[in-house]
Amino acid sequence: TTVIEARDIALAFGETPALRGASLSVQAGEVLAVMGPSGSGKSTLLHCLAGILVPDAGEVLFDGQRVDRMGEAQRSALRRDRFGFVFQFGQLVPELTAEENVALPLLLNGVRRGSALAQARPWFARLGLDGLERRRSGELSGGQAQRVALARGLVARPQVLFADEPTGALDSLTGEQVMELMVTSAREQGTTVILVTHEPRVASYADREAIVRDGQARTLSAGSVAP
Ligand code: ADP
Ligand code: ADP
Repeated sequence: TTVIEARDIALAFGETPALRGASLSVQAGEVLAVMGPSGSGKSTLLHCLAGILVPDAGEVLFDGQRVDRMGEAQRSALRRDRFGFVFQFGQLVPELTAEENVALPLLLNGVRRGSALAQARPWFARLGLDGLERRRSGELSGGQAQRVALARGLVARPQVLFADEPTGALDSLTGEQVMELMVTSAREQGTTVILVTHEPRVASYADREAIVRDGQARTLSAGSVAP
């Protein structure tokens, strides 16, 4: 079943068209990689699917609901309640501990502090971060910080995890470890993943790939992708 879909969406930043009639449909439980050259519109497409940006034309549907017709408050609630996010950099609050960072989405959902931290803790063992729970996140290495960010993206068991170049700031071995953990953890809890990357190695963790070029998207079935 389709969980999220863009139908012929267009969006321009002033005079710059970023999307020109992009369509994409994502199935529940799949890991979809969105690939394409820099500036082709990948991030903008992700932001439209996630209800961060609203397209100028076309439709965005999540679970059959028109996201593009929702107001900011409704989209914000959707992001908080249903979606998780992992970005390339600068997403952790450096003054908070690693476990507080992981617990943040739960705290924003009204979960009490004790319970939120208790739900955050198992992620440390799962992601190879034992002993780092109380470390200020500003003191973590790049790979550790990205695993903490991954835990934070998944801790509230979102229906969809949006990941924009999640390994872009990491060396390739660390990046592959993060991808392995992301895909395994998402599958365990049935979270759909939409992953923007320009690296074929990273995209190879996905079930399916979409290619964005000049603001339009096409999808390839598994196995049909040339490197
Ligand atoms: P990609 O993720 O594939 O690198 P983007 O979606 O970030 O592509 O960008 C698509 C186009 O839109 C590019 O020409 C980019 O410069 C432009 N763009 C993206 N975001 C903004 C913005 N906030 N303001 C102005 N132009 C933007
Ligand atoms: P990515 O494509 O990986 O998101 P970018 O460096 O293209 O990385 O974009 C980083 C941020 O800057 C994004 O939020 C994007 O919307 C914004 N951005 C991209 N291009 C422009 C631009 N030409 N003018 C203003 N903001 C932009």
